Amino acid sequence: MKTSDITTLLRAKGFRATQGKIALIAALLDSPSPESIETLAGKIKGALDAANVYRSLESFVAAGLVRRIDLGNAKSYYEFAVDRKHHHHIVCTDCGRIEDVKGCSEALDKTALKASTSFSAIQSHSLEFFGLCRPCTKKSVR
Ligand SMILES: [Zn+2]
Ligand SMILES: [Zn+2]
Ligand SMILES: [Zn+2]
Repeated sequence: MKTSDITTLLRAKGFRATQGKIALIAALLDSPSPESIETLAGKIKGALDAANVYRSLESFVAAGLVRRIDLGNAKSYYEFAVDRKHHHHIVCTDCGRIEDVKGCSEALDKTALKASTSFSAIQSHSLEFFGLCRPCTKKSVR
């Protein structure tokens, strides 16, 4: 996405297209997998300080530009959400590496609904897989 497109996108959502916000969106677009606040702050090299990175990300989440992934380890990861298909994540329980898992099955919702006694509809779901990445598997063998 070009800088001018990011500017347009930010303005369409009611944000001021500051250099910092543009850099942050560009960093998210550049990431193949969800990133932590620390990683994103490092990528934009001081265009925003850590507190502002957090604040901007949260306002992007509220505006639907960005998706936050909570992994229950007190760390949040963020990924660009516009025009991205529904998908899941796989996380390394050792080093925290996180990757997108492409594809999902509607059968999941049907199974959950069938098993439920008090729900009649499901709007969405989130599902994370946990395991060991290859480098960590090697480490644990040694
Ligand atoms: Zn790992
Ligand atoms: Zn993802
Ligand atoms: Zn799914």
